Amino acid sequence: MKVAAKLDHIKQQINQACGKANRNPDDIRLIAVTKYVSIERAREALEAGITDLGENRDEELMKKWEVLGDKPVWHYIGTLQSRKVKNIIDKVEYIHSLDRLSLAKEINKRADHLVKCLVQVNVSQEESKHGLPPEDTLQFIESLRPFANIRVEGLMTMAPFTNDQQVLRGCFRKLRELRDQVQSLRLDFAPCTELSMGMSNDYSIAIEEGATMVRIGTALVGEDE
Ligand SMILES: *Cc1c(COP(=O)(O)O)cnc(C)c1O
Repeated sequence: MKVAAKLDHIKQQINQACGKANRNPDDIRLIAVTKYVSIERAREALEAGITDLGENRDEELMKKWEVLGDKPVWHYIGTLQSRKVKNIIDKVEYIHSLDRLSLAKEINKRADHLVKCLVQVNVSQEESKHGLPPEDTLQFIESLRPFANIRVEGLMTMAPFTNDQQVLRGCFRKLRELRDQVQSLRLDFAPCTELSMGMSNDYSIAIEEGATMVRIGTALVGEDE
């Protein structure tokens, strides 16, 4: 199926979720996760009107960046090894996977500009997932104060792998509550307005629970249907 057709469907779903939650669809940033697909498919997504692309490996991001350049807004959404930071730092607008001090240190050192970061939280506490335990998140964010090049724009999570709507909703709600707690600290380096949550299977629920960024791969650019 063409990306344009999938995009139409997803926009309808976004509108519907926003209707339910009394939100404005313009407040949702749709990120097409192109990690599984070709440069051609990513280009097709851009031609269909997508503005934001997400990648989770530095090699793949650099490959696509060479061809597509900085027309799209690039989001780095995967686990980031410190030694890879220098490869992506000048190419991406957002890093969604800040989860440790050593990584913050490296980002701060390599950047010559303010880097928009989201702190990744492991709300579901699954061992297989990266991110900070919720109870450590506030303290971690406060510890980022010395890093002049880092700005905490929000929080990111990956929901557990389940179809249980209540579990998914609970996870997203917990991230929103945590975001609100960070906001109430009024830290100038951590405005923390964004909530990056929701993927192909759960983005409608994420939007109902306050997502401002959804990261959609399979349902938007998947080629295997
Ligand atoms: C792959 C990935 C996505 C997109 O997953 P889909 O289920 O294909 O929509 C979103 N976020 C992260 C961090 C990912 O690694």
